[in-house]
Order: sequence, then C-alpha cells, then structure tokens
Amino acid sequence: MHIGLPKEIKVKENRVALTPGGVATLVRRGHTVTVERGAGVGSGIQDTEYEAAGAEMGSAADAWAAQMVVKVKEPIKSEYGYLRDDLLLFTYLHLAADRPLTEALLASGTTGVAYETVQLDDGSLPLLTPMSEVAGRLSVQAGAYHLQKPVGGRGVLLGGVPGVQAGHVVILGGGVVGTNAAKMAMGLGAKVTILDVSHRRLSYLDDVFFGKLTTMMSSEANIRTLLPEADLLIGGVLIPGAKAPHLITRDMLPLMQEGSVIVDVAVDQGGCVETIHATTHDDPTYVIDGVVHYGVANMPGAVPRTSTFALTNATFPYALMLADQGLNALSANKALRLGLNTHQGQLTYAGVGEAFGMPV
Ligand code: NAD
Repeated sequence: MHIGLPKEIKVKENRVALTPGGVATLVRRGHTVTVERGAGVGSGIQDTEYEAAGAEMGSAADAWAAQMVVKVKEPIKSEYGYLRDDLLLFTYLHLAADRPLTEALLASGTTGVAYETVQLDDGSLPLLTPMSEVAGRLSVQAGAYHLQKPVGGRGVLLGGVPGVQAGHVVILGGGVVGTNAAKMAMGLGAKVTILDVSHRRLSYLDDVFFGKLTTMMSSEANIRTLLPEADLLIGGVLIPGAKAPHLITRDMLPLMQEGSVIVDVAVDQGGCVETIHATTHDDPTYVIDGVVHYGVANMPGAVPRTSTFALTNATFPYALMLADQGLNALSANKALRLGLNTHQGQLTYAGVGEAFGMPV
C-alpha cells in the first residue's frame, strides 16, 4: 500500500504520526511511504532519518495523494481539499465536536478511522491511553513548577526536605491520568491522596502502592476535608462520553490555601473544577480566589518528542494492520472496527450520529 505522512499544520502541533522505525517496518513489508518534508522536525526527527528508513520525501500534496494517510490531529479546513473517496484516513478525529469536518468527510466519501474510538473488549481506549499517561505525569511537573513563589505559587517544594514536611498532592480520579500523576508525585517525595468513585480502582491502587499513598472514596465531604491541606490538586476524572462532573464548585475554592495550585487535566471534557477554563502553553495559568488554575487542554503538546513516540507505540500496530490488509483489517480486528467513523459517505459511529442527529 502507498502510505502518506503529512506534516501536522494545526497551530502548535509538533507531533508526527510515524517514526523512522515505523517507516522502516512498513517499507520492509513492501509498502511505499511518502513523508512530507519537515514532518518530524517538531519532534526532533530529521528528514534524513526518514530517508534512511526508506521513505520518499515530498510535498503535502504528495503525502496526501497516498491510499492511506496517517496523521495525529484531525484535518483542518485547509486540508479538506485533500479528502477523497478512495482515501483511508487514520488519525484522531473527535468528530462529535466537529460538525464541519464530519460533513467534509461524508461529502468526500473518505474512510475515516479515528484513534479515539478504537476500543478493546474491556472498554479501554488504547490509542488515548498514551496521551493520558503523558498528561498525568506532566501534571505533577507543571504543578510543582507553578507552586514556586516567583511564578505565583505558595512557595512549597513538593518533596519537602529533611525536617520539613512534604507537599500534599490530592488527585481526583484514579484512572490513567491519576495513576501516572500519583507515580510522579510519589517519586518527588510528596504526600499523595487519591480519590475515586470506583472501589475496585481504589483497591487496585492500594495494592500496588501499598503504604505510599492514601486512597479515599470520592465524595463532597472527603474533598472538602482535603482542600485546606492540598498544595497541588490534580483533576483526572472521566465519565466516558459525558462532561466531567464539577467536584470542586466555586464556593469550595476559599477552602484552599492562597498560592495552592489546581491542574485540571480533565479540562478537555469541561473539567472537574467549576472555575477551570481551557488555557494554552503560552499562557497556562490564571488565579481565582488566590488559587492558581492550570487548564492546558493539550498538555502532551509540551513534550512532542515523548508524545510522538508514546502515541506511535500504540497506533503503529493498527496502522500496520491497515497497511497490510486494507479495509479487511476492520473485519479482522474488532477494536479497530470500532474506530471506523465514516465510510463512503456514511456515518458509522453511533456517538457522532447522536451528537448531530444524523443517521448511522
Ligand atoms: P480514565 O477513564 O482512565 O480515569 C478516569 C477515572 O475517573 C476513573 O477511574 C473513574 O472511576 C474516575 N471517576 C469518575 N467519576 C469520578 C468522581 N466523581 N470522583 C472521582 N473519580 C471519578 O481516564 P483518563 O485517561 O485518566 O483521563 C482523565 C481525563 O483526562 C479525561 O477527561 C481525558 O480526556 C483527560 N486528558 C486530558 C489531557 C490534556 O492534555 N488536558 C490529556 C489526556 C487526557
């Protein structure tokens, strides 16, 4: 198959959808890969590395002319012209939040397979997990930085020092984001409390981190008790397919200490803190009631090199199946089939149909 790798052109997107190692594997299996010049630069991957892996280098149009295009972000308006009915597009699409793109994919007849709806039998979303891992780990790094006095924080070192108590990190949600945040916070020597509504999840966390963190059932009463002693609060709650619940309402903010920090990773689903709104890497924080709020909606974008390798580790096996088997891969692999969102002008994913009242 002919595979195209265009450069991401969405503002501040520095990830790329295939590494040179991935290209080499595809080429070894007899596929042709066209890489747009400069596609990997934002992730520290040079054109020469792709060339050495056997790629043909070309323009955006050359990469988009391939049978299958592998990307990171959804096509933006200036890319709609590349969509066509014999194109297989494998990327994050997030169609339920993007009516113009849904219409463009349907009108063009493009077969769109979305990373975010590829789903395993246990309900997990393997192509979202790596970005939650990155964001969870980064949340502690970002929080520790913003706790520093010169940038508006409380002036607390999360790990403390001998003779001085450590900072307290309170984590809402013990899923992928929460678990990765907990690991990093414990690594820094912070005191960590993690809350979830799933007893099963809390038991798991208690088992694997026994003695090193405190688990608590997520309830308003428990959250109110913890807020006055939290130096860093991390939001990592997810209710699949729904907006995040506001577990910290505006009236609860004064319970927190001046200069304490909230990193609400769940901001992309509306956030679990009522006062959070989306911010950017250029201007990541703002202060309400003395509490520093960090609401960057694309946290992995801060570390594109790590994120590119983390993402492609997860996406590549599926990309390879699509390259080797074409659309037959969708019949052969149930998880991948759930990734199919559009095909020959038909919407094929129920959640998107519901969002727009379109037939599926
Ligand atoms: P996950 O499904 O692995 O974990 C979510 C956890 O929240 C689950 O354990 C669930 O039981 C728990 N939960 C549900 N309701 C709760 C409540 N009321 N109180 C406490 N816990 C509750 O999800 P995840 O992969 O960890 O993702 C978490 C959020 O982070 C999602 O909204 C995701 O979109 C977001 N995210 C944001 C970024 C970013 O850059 N900002 C990056 C990656 C992921």
